Amino acid sequence: MKVEVAVVGAGALGLSTALHCARQGRSVVVLDRRTPGSQASGRAAGLFKSVQGDEVRTFLARRSIDLVRHFGEWAGVPLDVAASGSLLVARGGGHKKLLAAELAQSLRWGVDLAAISPAEAAERTGGYYRPAGDEDVVWCPEDVYIEEPGALIDAYLGAAARAGVQVLADEPVTAVTTSSAGVITGVRTAARHIETAVVVDAAGAWVRQVGELAGAWVAAAPVRHQLLVTEPVPGVPASAPITRILDCAVYLRPARGGLMLGGFESAPLPVDPRAQPPAFDTDDVPLDRGVLDAMAAQVAGLVPAAQAEVAEHRGGLFTMSPDGRFLAGPVPEVPGLWVASGCNGSGFSSSPAIGEALARWITGGRPEVDLSALSPARFTGVLTDEALVERGTWQYAHYYDPLTA
Ligand SMILES: Cc1cc2nc3c(=O)[nH]c(=O)nc-3n(C[C@H](O)[C@H](O)[C@H](O)COP(=O)(O)OP(=O)(O)OC[C@H]3O[C@@H](n4cnc5c(N)ncnc54)[C@H](O)[C@@H]3O)c2cc1C
Repeated sequence: MKVEVAVVGAGALGLSTALHCARQGRSVVVLDRRTPGSQASGRAAGLFKSVQGDEVRTFLARRSIDLVRHFGEWAGVPLDVAASGSLLVARGGGHKKLLAAELAQSLRWGVDLAAISPAEAAERTGGYYRPAGDEDVVWCPEDVYIEEPGALIDAYLGAAARAGVQVLADEPVTAVTTSSAGVITGVRTAARHIETAVVVDAAGAWVRQVGELAGAWVAAAPVRHQLLVTEPVPGVPASAPITRILDCAVYLRPARGGLMLGGFESAPLPVDPRAQPPAFDTDDVPLDRGVLDAMAAQVAGLVPAAQAEVAEHRGGLFTMSPDGRFLAGPVPEVPGLWVASGCNGSGFSSSPAIGEALARWITGGRPEVDLSALSPARFTGVLTDEALVERGTWQYAHYYDPLTA
């Protein structure tokens, strides 16, 4: 087989990059060691968030919201998106200061936001949020969510098929081949050798392994993340907004007639698939309900329904980078190798715009936004494995206070 672009990993980031490369007229194959969307992407909460820690990520987040809201128009495949808006809540001096700073900078970067009263916040949620009265709240009307993460994967797969992308499931890439000058020449699986000048490493929690196959060091540390969905509870309208409570690092949204709750552990669990048996996948990530029960108890005063009976508990791995920013762009020491990773918990929601910008760059065009700050090369040779895990877990634990990073 010979293609112009081979993408390793059929998660949200790989599929989006593949789709956009094909839309730029390139022949593209995507390979996955399992079923497309079965790993981190299939576990996502589906939240899109326009408030981000810097201008590039703000652009990518907002562009992504635009792309999913109009998916059917540009990709030709329908996609249901809940245009819910979201609330950011802060209690306590430090988090109130942080929220005020985020509000000011996000407004500067063009995000539609407004400070509202706790009572208005409660009204917007249809009552699932019970105001304390002295908290600060910001309303973000732009934010959206996708009810089931598989819907975005299916939409990508449908659009990719229409654009001529070949997706090969259950076909792990076992080698990345290079010329004697170290330039990418192809990828190998048990079934075939695929000749290509461009390989995109979008292997999620396995991004380091795939990078290593090509002789590259990718600065991504996988860290566990979990969420739960309650049984249906009265008083949670499907149209209610997402609520993010900064001081508890907890997010909530309507889900299947109940509530979804997820959050960021202060003592995160790093999991390195390289140290696991070869068959390791997301189902093998150890889950801990106690972490989520404690979070539900922490927010019970504001959101009593968070403590309803649990219908689903799921989890998977974030790929954290040392500075909390994506890893997206070419790997200079291996010409032809590109990385689409370092999701830092936002890979699902930023995948539409990251794929679009990377594809422009890969195909010789100018990306809509300068991605150089996200270069995978920014950590090459400067970090030990231990420092990578230490910084990645720090970023995870501080997900909602990036301004202090
Ligand atoms: C519980 C949970 C909730 C989350 N909520 C959100 C959210 O609300 N919003 C948000 O933006 N993000 C969220 N995330 C993060 C989001 O899921 C990830 O950022 C995103 O899915 C990453 O996509 P990916 O394509 O990099 O990885 P993945 O979806 O993991 O895809 C990588 C793929 O690479 C394949 N692969 C690995 N090695 C090989 C190989 N050698 N050969 C071939 N294929 C290979 C894997 O099988 C996998 O399918 C959440 C994550 C979790 C776990």
